[in-house]
Amino acid sequence: MARYSAHLSLAEIGRHGQQHIRDSHIALIGAGGLGCAAAQYLVSSGLGTLTLCDFDTVAESNLARQILYRAADVGRLKVEAAAASLRALNPDSTLHTVAKRMADEDMQNLFPACDLVIDASDNYGTRLAVNRNCLALKKPWIMASCIRMEGQIMYLRPDLPEQPCYRCAYGSAPDTLEDCPGAGIFAPVAGIVGAAAAHFALSGLAGKPPPAGIHLFDAANWQWQSLKIGKQTGCRDCA
Ligand SMILES: [Zn+2]
Repeated sequence: MARYSAHLSLAEIGRHGQQHIRDSHIALIGAGGLGCAAAQYLVSSGLGTLTLCDFDTVAESNLARQILYRAADVGRLKVEAAAASLRALNPDSTLHTVAKRMADEDMQNLFPACDLVIDASDNYGTRLAVNRNCLALKKPWIMASCIRMEGQIMYLRPDLPEQPCYRCAYGSAPDTLEDCPGAGIFAPVAGIVGAAAAHFALSGLAGKPPPAGIHLFDAANWQWQSLKIGKQTGCRDCA
């Protein structure tokens, strides 16, 4: 356990929290800039099992921010290249891969076995599908997104009563409606928000859940803003 000694010293994690991290399974949707950064910290921190989901292959234009991939990985399936990189980082973690675009049926098959889901995809349709399926299964999940010089993160708790869902919230965050591809993204912003997703996930698993609401990062002015979100009466997904 020397690998985790710095966690064991923390009042917020400790032996009990680290044990929970080791006993947990996370599904990570998207092995892009956010997913690479999140996966590194999840696996280096001793997460028991990680299932990586991504249909895509590594492109040269990914290498600036998708830090699990090397130049020689161009053309390779992202989940395969990422899993190889993560296994070298920490052989203690069990890695599973799903090399497909995740549809409702895939989520219904995968999520029941997981303690937590992280959506690090680059599109609104997938995020809404994760919202729907996590609501149906009462599964906590983390939404992380970034674009240009901005990031957003939320810890959603459909496992608790009367909590807002992602669709309840997005009205206050119109930027998420724009998909990432083509809009540009500053590489470190993806790393910061991806690391924040790992922080949220590991804290939640260790019994210290992060604050509710939507957390917005404005990298250009280096400001974080947290907004409260209420459950919307008449929400199409959770009402
Ligand atoms: Zn809702």
